[in-house]
Amino acid sequence: MKNSDIERCGPSTQGLRAGYLQSDQQEHSEAIFATSSFTFGSAAEAAAKFADQQPGNIYSRFSNPTVRAFQDRLAVMEGGESCIATASGMSAILATCMALLDGGDHIVSSVGIFGTTASLFFNHLNRFGVDTTFVSLTDYDAWAEAIRPETRMLFLETPSNPLTEIADIQRLAALAHDNGAMLVVDNCFCTPALQKPLALGADVVVHSATKYLDGQGRVVGGAVVGDEERVGKKVFGFLRAAGPTMSAFNAWIFLKGLETLALRMRGHSDNAQAVAEWLEADARVARVNYAGLPSHPQYELAVRQQRAAGGIVSFELAGGREAAWRVIDNTRLLSITANLGGVRSTITHPASTTHGRITAEQRAAAGIGEGLIRLSVGLEDREDLIADLNRALAAAG
Ligand SMILES: *Cc1c(COP(=O)(O)O)cnc(C)c1O
Repeated sequence: MKNSDIERCGPSTQGLRAGYLQSDQQEHSEAIFATSSFTFGSAAEAAAKFADQQPGNIYSRFSNPTVRAFQDRLAVMEGGESCIATASGMSAILATCMALLDGGDHIVSSVGIFGTTASLFFNHLNRFGVDTTFVSLTDYDAWAEAIRPETRMLFLETPSNPLTEIADIQRLAALAHDNGAMLVVDNCFCTPALQKPLALGADVVVHSATKYLDGQGRVVGGAVVGDEERVGKKVFGFLRAAGPTMSAFNAWIFLKGLETLALRMRGHSDNAQAVAEWLEADARVARVNYAGLPSHPQYELAVRQQRAAGGIVSFELAGGREAAWRVIDNTRLLSITANLGGVRSTITHPASTTHGRITAEQRAAAGIGEGLIRLSVGLEDREDLIADLNRALAAAG
């Protein structure tokens, strides 16, 4: 199928067909090119490839057919010109910053981002003269006020984790562009099956492929998607020089993951909706955060911006940490793990795990209460998930 045709297809078709790679063996499922290097037909061919005068494979730190197939497929799904796969989600964010920022540049970031991303910004990039100001995801005045002449990047995750706040990507893209900056969106929680930030004006999308893109908790990886100049040239240049490369084996796992991504995201969203509605109707639960509920403060925006509300639900118990831990310890089906985005449902206490290393004041400012529980709703039968939560809430008294 021609690329111009696949670009008009839906996310299920794109996940199965975009970037499809077939060797002269005519295999139907993509092959894994497990090779570190590639040979050349002649010295002149080697020279031409090293000089970028002729396309082709050189060395798997920066050119491998299986990795390229994953990149091509994800680029089509996100609607970007170019995609670079990386060893992890964190190295995707690092590569984006190293490739697109200089010392002295400034980042404005939403405060509720993934903890390790925040740590990358304020413990590491700051040592190279890149400062970050953190603002509330949905406080648009705060975003505007935080911008300085040297601001080059606005960075956000939407929906946020674990509170599921939704930011208006179009509005923040306009703010970035009015101020000569770029908007980078971590699209981990929605994936292109539910949300396409580039079509809404974002300049770069980053992924932890470890989560929904794999979807079965097998391997760690990441990706950066955007235009040819920023991603195809600059991020690729950083990858080639620094080497945070995705392996061919992991790329193959992610290719298989993309084949079922749209189907899984529908299943996650349908299950999460049922669980959220059940929790909201239960008197033992003080509050439920899920953008698929009309009670969510950005419900209308979510309906406009996303195909569905996704698989992450959080809820608050009045009894604080003690009550939250009792519920978690009394589940039988849900896995107690901080990982998310997989087919098995997981339950976690953000205040003592994913957000345990920031101070109590920072947690309070970010709205992470001691009674907050986060669910990554998987693909089990929803009746079984609800029965498990019901029993855990009852046992916790
Ligand atoms: C997990 C995660 C990351 C980091 O990805 P790794 O693959 O673990 O390096 C970045 N952003 C978000 C939103 C995540 O959930």
